[in-house]
Amino acid sequence: MLATAENDRISRRIERSTRSEDTMNRPIQIRALTEQETAELTRSATFNALHPVRCRQCGNTHTFGRKMFWIGGVPKAEQHSDSTQGLIAHHLKERYGVASVFFKTYRNRFYVDSALCKHCGSTGIEFDIELSDDVVAAVAKLSGRPLAEVRSAIQERAESIAQTTRTVEEDERRSRE
Ligand SMILES: [Zn+2]
Repeated sequence: MLATAENDRISRRIERSTRSEDTMNRPIQIRALTEQETAELTRSATFNALHPVRCRQCGNTHTFGRKMFWIGGVPKAEQHSDSTQGLIAHHLKERYGVASVFFKTYRNRFYVDSALCKHCGSTGIEFDIELSDDVVAAVAKLSGRPLAEVRSAIQERAESIAQTTRTVEEDERRSRE
């Protein structure tokens, strides 16, 4: 009951904060992606170039679950905003228990990417850009471009869609300073 009341409070806060900045008067919408949608994004070399690499709690580097969210109602100019990202991260922590989130803009859509350690259950996971040779080779074959060129193109794209890693713990630490 308490958790629900807390969520309502945060939703109202998100609505209020958008209303004051957004002339379109739209609240922020957050929707957890289905397993199929998540799998599709994970298969995209550019979306997934930036992916979970290490659990901060137990050091696991191999088995991660993924949880992604579609975020609506945030104007493009607001997508990099510290306060907007902070509110969304806070909401995801309260509602879905996701400690560390990654904001991504991909094909004109705004997403949150997060992961779960399958060893210890932690959601404080480090993401990094790491391109496997298989992925680069497959894309090079499809596009008919040289490997090195494809590797740097994917890297560049990944850096441009990736925004910031955000943890509620860090936000709270910052706000205390
Ligand atoms: Zn772990």
